[in-house]
Amino acid sequence: MDYFLSEDQMMIKELVRQIAEEKVVPVREELDEKEEFPWEIMKVLAQSDLFGLFIPEAYGGLGKGCLELCIAVEELSRACVGVATTYAANALGSYPVLLFGTEDQKKKYLPEIASGKRLVAFGLTEANAGSDAAGIQTTAKPDGNEYVLDGTKQWITNGGEAEIYTIIAMTDKSKGARGASAFIVEKGTPGFSFGKKEKKMGIRASATRELIFDNCRIPKENILGKPGLGFIVAMRTLDNARAGVGAQGVGVAQGAFEEAVKFARQRIQFGHPIISFQAIQHMLSDMATEIEAARALLYGVARYIDSGAKEISKESAMAKLFATDMAMRVTTNAVQVMGGSGYMREYPVEKMMRDAKILQIYEGTNQIQRNVIGQVLIKELAKK
Ligand SMILES: Cc1cc2nc3c(=O)[nH]c(=O)nc-3n(C[C@H](O)[C@H](O)[C@H](O)COP(=O)(O)OP(=O)(O)OC[C@H]3O[C@@H](n4cnc5c(N)ncnc54)[C@H](O)[C@@H]3O)c2cc1C
Repeated sequence: MDYFLSEDQMMIKELVRQIAEEKVVPVREELDEKEEFPWEIMKVLAQSDLFGLFIPEAYGGLGKGCLELCIAVEELSRACVGVATTYAANALGSYPVLLFGTEDQKKKYLPEIASGKRLVAFGLTEANAGSDAAGIQTTAKPDGNEYVLDGTKQWITNGGEAEIYTIIAMTDKSKGARGASAFIVEKGTPGFSFGKKEKKMGIRASATRELIFDNCRIPKENILGKPGLGFIVAMRTLDNARAGVGAQGVGVAQGAFEEAVKFARQRIQFGHPIISFQAIQHMLSDMATEIEAARALLYGVARYIDSGAKEISKESAMAKLFATDMAMRVTTNAVQVMGGSGYMREYPVEKMMRDAKILQIYEGTNQIQRNVIGQVLIKELAKK
């Protein structure tokens, strides 16, 4: 289907597809097997200015928006969601600075992010605070001209590899959700270290680690926004980033669908290519239809975000929910179309199915997306 992408958007799509085909596809299996962080690919993305895609030109970026970022993430995910997660988590970690940073913070951090010189990570989740983010226990106590951070963040993408961390911590526990604040913490700050690297089902090229803060002192000017705005920073960050998870879903589903079609045309059973069987054709038809429906929703939502719309929670949750549930179904069916071959590591679809699963979990599980959509629907209904 034609989504009437601009010339610039088509160029981005073609550039990222070329990088994905030439640099990602040949190594994705090895990165997955060895659980190796894709530094070489990150360097190529940096050389192609792709880390600056969503950063304003005034801070050294290309000044593009959510749609361009989604196109890039979709193309990377078509090849490898592990690599795409590494790239997309950089945007997730950057949004707090982009949306809430002071002019000084933007000038200090955004050019280095745009050039790909320094990777970023976003730290909200803790052992006892996943979906219930308001339960975080990490504290940031004011002390003179500093804040002192104590606590542990769990399962942070790009943890250990990134140099800049945007962290949500409690500055006043007595105020509950209104007592959290957001901070920038740089790697190398005394009292900031990393725990174990997780061993995962999928997206094994991406690094997921604990962040440990033990009497970690950061300057007061590292606060993002005002004290007490921590959860607003976190929620607006997630609202902006969730379309990117939808893009991962569309990309991995597209990749799995193409592999399934290729296989179905070649595989002969009962004297015919299996693609000639109506049962297989129907599966492929459903897969193609679902991918297109998710892409149409995703691009529509990305354009809505780029229009400057203020209320985007419902729409970004819808794009994430629909595209990632779709990705799980499509990658599972790609394995089914390929039979036993689909289950073998020799073919990429078993990895795609493993990779797709995380998309229903991170940046808010799909149950939580339904809660978000439901809450906005109820508010909208109350206004009528
Ligand atoms: C590989 C990976 C990378 C990650 N990267 C990051 C990162 O970079 N930064 C970061 O901050 N976090 C990150 N996370 C954390 C991720 O966002 C959380 O795992 C996710 O939000 C869910 O929290 P949880 O795992 O604690 O599940 P829980 O909250 O314990 O949920 C368990 C189950 O209960 C359901 N549930 C919980 N509450 C409700 C409810 N109210 N209504 C309906 N169902 C509910 C959930 O949907 C889920 O099915 C990452 C996680 C993983 C696995």
